[in-house]
Amino acid sequence: MKKKEETNSKSMAKKKLNNKLKYAEIKEPYTQNSVKKRIEAFFLDNIGKIISGEQLKEIAKDPKTGKDRENWHQRLSELRTDDGYTILTLRNRGDLNVSEYMMPHKRKRPQAETRKKIKQETWLEVLKRSGSSCEWNEDGIRCGLKEGDSDPIGGGTVQLTPDHKTPHSLNADINPENPDEWQALCGRHQVVKKNYWDHITGKINVIAIVQAASDSIKREVYAFLKAYFGDS
Ligand SMILES: [Zn+2]
Repeated sequence: MKKKEETNSKSMAKKKLNNKLKYAEIKEPYTQNSVKKRIEAFFLDNIGKIISGEQLKEIAKDPKTGKDRENWHQRLSELRTDDGYTILTLRNRGDLNVSEYMMPHKRKRPQAETRKKIKQETWLEVLKRSGSSCEWNEDGIRCGLKEGDSDPIGGGTVQLTPDHKTPHSLNADINPENPDEWQALCGRHQVVKKNYWDHITGKINVIAIVQAASDSIKREVYAFLKAYFGDS
């Protein structure tokens, strides 16, 4: 019971913030052939407005049979990751509620269209350069796990995959033939690297970087922040 009250007051506070924001309305039937196309069209018709999960569920329904299409969550995330749209949620904007979404503008991140893969010859050169081992560097210490090794920290067998050194979100102009732009990373460090970049906003995920940093770096950040805020 108490929990419910708390949730209510929280959503009341949110509603206040929400006052200035407009809610989307479904004004016309969306008859595009795929769930993704229908959701995309609805977002584009409602730039800057709040869209609810209920509305998306409605839009996702098969326009002919009216049948629910359960996969709309997945299509929504594809609009972000594959098509490069910015779609905000509570995680990005505090004034949105759970299950509310917003497309603030129509711009697509260019890398979503031009995401390039490394050429096989380039990858072989990278492997040669790295001695077939992970090139992740943390405070001057290289990971160095080799393909097929067992990962003492993450567990499992190490599999190296190519990583573009500059994240796609920051540099769409990728050369698949230049080994200097690529590095070999083990699975664990691919994940660490991904966590460093918020693929939705394309901005550096500072918190994740600090979390993964060594104790000595954390101490430096701590000292910096204390000085910054004038705490002693
Ligand atoms: Zn590694």
